[in-house]
Amino acid sequence: MNEKLLMTPGPTNVPKRVLDSMSQSMMHHRTSEFSCMLSQMSERLKYVFQTSSDVLTFPAAGTGGLEAVIVNLFSPGDRVLLVSIGVFGDRFSKIAQVFGLDVDKLEVPWGMGADPQTIKESLKDSHKAVIVTHNETSTAAANDIKKIAEMLSGEDKLLIVDAVSSLGGLELRMDEWGIDAVVTASQKALMSPPGLAFISLSERAWEKSKESRLPKYYWDFEKARADLNKAKAQNPYTPAVSLIAATNEALAIIQEEGIENAWKRHELMANRIRSGIEKIGLGIFTHRDYLSNTVTAVDVGEKAETVKAMMENEHGIIISGGQGVLKGRIIRIGHMGCIDGEMADRTLKALEDCMNRA
Ligand code: PLP
Repeated sequence: MNEKLLMTPGPTNVPKRVLDSMSQSMMHHRTSEFSCMLSQMSERLKYVFQTSSDVLTFPAAGTGGLEAVIVNLFSPGDRVLLVSIGVFGDRFSKIAQVFGLDVDKLEVPWGMGADPQTIKESLKDSHKAVIVTHNETSTAAANDIKKIAEMLSGEDKLLIVDAVSSLGGLELRMDEWGIDAVVTASQKALMSPPGLAFISLSERAWEKSKESRLPKYYWDFEKARADLNKAKAQNPYTPAVSLIAATNEALAIIQEEGIENAWKRHELMANRIRSGIEKIGLGIFTHRDYLSNTVTAVDVGEKAETVKAMMENEHGIIISGGQGVLKGRIIRIGHMGCIDGEMADRTLKALEDCMNRA
């Protein structure tokens, strides 16, 4: 259907093997066949999350996953420290506010990551959680979650991580690093179609969830976990069967490659893109200490929207523009999921051509 090359930070290209897995006859969700598939996907997700905790699957965008975490872990008036380094940190903050949380926002200049020491110094006794974005897709800046987690170890605060544009592409070890909640979605480094949100909680977060007084039905984690752990794994309501088939296949590919190899491959691809950008004579928007390995933001000044349109119309390559205040100033090139060297080089060549002519 889509002959265009997706070099965006999501949705990303979906491998043929994954696309094919969606073209089977429809499976009923209360059959043993479906239960087996759901259990298999859940085990594979644990590997990619690097956790032994259950990973819950919801038919939703990543934003639904963020909302789900808020309504399951908190009560109105709970005070949290929210670290925002861009558009998606701001979105998480808004969701928390909509549900009546008392949000202290630690705002970091766009293009930078958060300093773990500053996070620690901003913490108050009354904070119940620290909420942070792993990879800020709008600025192509990645936070050092390992260091942030180390800084918070020993504190009685939940550490909640939005890993929507990082999981599967950037190193993240939920259990080893002591993260309490990880949220991600199917359409980015997991190289699956959009439509699924995945969430895992630590034991400590499950305990805290018992105190939550926010209303929930669709997002009820306790119910989702109980159904997942039945002798025949299930979902509380009709699941997105074809998307589960797709992600199950994509996760098999990641498992065959090995998660560490996948992280390494993303690093190599990011280096290839960044050095190509520099060779063209363009600047990288993000501060060099916080460069993301799944997306690169390029400073192209007022040519941004023209170049983006030329890339699509003349080269069949979809890239992204800037978001929020960066609209019209930067372009963003996604290099997560199944991007290979040939795709990266083709994108760089096209970008050079467009920049010369724009
Ligand atoms: N968080 C981050 C870091 C993202 O990059 C995105 C989407 O790009 C989201 C959350 C929201 O995900 P969705 O668009 O699937 O709702």
